[in-house]
Amino acid sequence: MDRKLGGFLCAVFVVLALSLQETLCLNTCRQDPSAASHFCGLPYTLSNFQGYYACNKTVQVGRPDSKEQLLALIKNFARVKGVGVGHSWSQGFFCAGDDADSIDIVLTELPSTRRINALPKLSWLGDLYDSSFPIHVDEDAQTVTVDGGVQTRVLLDYLATHITAKGPMGWTLPSFSWYIDQTVAGAVATATHGSSMKYGSLSGQVLELEVALANGTLATFSPASNPHLFAALQVSVGRLGIITQVKLPIKAQKAVKRSLDTMSMDIFTQQLIQVEQKYKAALQSGDEGAIFKALEPVEAVQAFIFPVSGDLWKVSYQLVATTSLDSTSELAGVVDTEKYYQSITTDGTTSGPPKIPGAFAQTASPAQGGSIFIHIFNATGWDLLGKALLYPLVAPGVYSARKSYLTQADLSSAFMADLDPYDQYEVSVTMDKAGTCLAGAIEVWKSGASEGMRVPGLIRFVSEETPYLSNSNGGARMFVNLEDHVSHTLKKPNLEFERVVRYFVEECDARLHWGKAGWPFLEPCFDGAAHYAQWCDFGCAVEELDPSGKFRTESNAWSWRATQNGVDVPLQQCCTPTGFSSQCTCAPRTDRTGCPAPGTILHIVAD
Ligand SMILES: Cc1cc2nc3c(=O)[nH]c(=O)nc-3n(C[C@H](O)[C@H](O)[C@H](O)COP(=O)(O)OP(=O)(O)OC[C@H]3O[C@@H](n4cnc5c(N)ncnc54)[C@H](O)[C@@H]3O)c2cc1C
Repeated sequence: MDRKLGGFLCAVFVVLALSLQETLCLNTCRQDPSAASHFCGLPYTLSNFQGYYACNKTVQVGRPDSKEQLLALIKNFARVKGVGVGHSWSQGFFCAGDDADSIDIVLTELPSTRRINALPKLSWLGDLYDSSFPIHVDEDAQTVTVDGGVQTRVLLDYLATHITAKGPMGWTLPSFSWYIDQTVAGAVATATHGSSMKYGSLSGQVLELEVALANGTLATFSPASNPHLFAALQVSVGRLGIITQVKLPIKAQKAVKRSLDTMSMDIFTQQLIQVEQKYKAALQSGDEGAIFKALEPVEAVQAFIFPVSGDLWKVSYQLVATTSLDSTSELAGVVDTEKYYQSITTDGTTSGPPKIPGAFAQTASPAQGGSIFIHIFNATGWDLLGKALLYPLVAPGVYSARKSYLTQADLSSAFMADLDPYDQYEVSVTMDKAGTCLAGAIEVWKSGASEGMRVPGLIRFVSEETPYLSNSNGGARMFVNLEDHVSHTLKKPNLEFERVVRYFVEECDARLHWGKAGWPFLEPCFDGAAHYAQWCDFGCAVEELDPSGKFRTESNAWSWRATQNGVDVPLQQCCTPTGFSSQCTCAPRTDRTGCPAPGTILHIVAD
């Protein structure tokens, strides 16, 4: 690290230390106390974790204390939505409706989920003593069954400390995301992913799901019991019911070597163009082995891009046969599980008596104000700040899988959540144009759009998978995570930032992440049939599981149009027990109302 960066680092830490006090005093979220935000909504107010994308204040919050109560709530309300901890950026996919007959239901307050706080640090002992413990490991089958409201961080830390003869270094999920403070059900609902050309997203890894359905019953789905409904439920955005339990594969944890290569964005792009070319040739040959081999160079790669300086930090991983870990680096991203468990103790009844058992009025909660950092640092300052804060997290070394694969540390979560309101976008592009598309994005940044960036972008890769609404349904994809840290603070659109996300959507046919921003700004009149080959299969699952539209929300995305011999027919007419009939066509929608006129630009406006 050079001197300039070292001096800058010191200044940064002074500012951060001053901010720390504020952060630690505010403690209301369902995430680590040090990561808690005063502004986060759930489980008391319906908004995202920074108080944005809030629902109508009359919408109720469901905090059931049993699965029976959960099912009764579903029956009692006309409009229902399962939600996690609000780590997403979309009203349309988050709010059940816009009146008092609507309820958003959280699972974090189920006693079986909340009570993991009471367990000692070696939390896996709970499994031995208590059948209601919300995490169950089956070592022989190499699976874990976890309640939907458990947060990913808790699951990963639980697995990592589950030390047994078969898993002497603990256990882990095959692949997981950078952010791990969301609920497991929320992560699965939106195809949350890390970077893996082998294991795909969390949704792709799911083996079985238990879901509370619109008819007020609980049902379990697996590829064996019903492949069609399972493929729909693997990525459902909450449209099909409330996921109450998830079964995932696990692996005995191994040592993983993390490497860091620093290079320019241009060099990385050249490497990616080579991958793109080999992938295209492999696709043409139809040889599965060649396709896998072509994608090997980006397996598990996570690349941080700094568009202002043009730098790129490429992080890659390799399994190693050792049990001796680099102890100093264990400090990077360290997690204090005990502290985490204590955070899940707040009694769920603080907002007055329930209207009906388990249904509560929302409490008042402000949205987070502006970020002081926007005024202190310009885009170049943020570029350096990003490097200073990131370096300890990406430091090379040999760690346990849990520590080696990058995850956002709770303290960094704290600063971001509490002090810096932002919108996170993620666009995904098919691998047959990934390099070419990134080259075009770099040109957009070079033409001035880097001024709209504040934190580094993150490039990841996900293998092809079969859930109907998975971003990588139809082929492996490159994902580019981009954050707008300006518009909420300055209360005006960040036009240069928008230019880049629009480039990806319009020029590279990018899909949007279901749990991130851009809905409806970038997709004001989303037509699922144009984006997803199995859109109408998902529609058929909706017809079967939610015929009355209980889980439809206010989003205009949930629309299907079927034709048969060129004539419009009700979707139901084209649905079979195995999905959408091949005798029908999934046609472009014609029911779009309120769409902007062609050429009209919708801006991302801070609400
Ligand atoms: C800082 C940050 C970093 C992130 N990093 C990543 C990342 O590295 N990779 C990635 O892929 N994503 C990432 N995300 C996105 C995040 O994983 C998703 O938005 C996730 O869905 C949020 O889960 P949640 O529990 O907070 O759910 P919420 O935000 O409360 O809900 C999100 C969606 O999931 C549905 N949902 C939630 N719970 C249920 C349930 N029980 N049953 C059915 N539907 C449900 C909701 O209806 C809603 O549509 C990040 C988010 C944040 C805030």
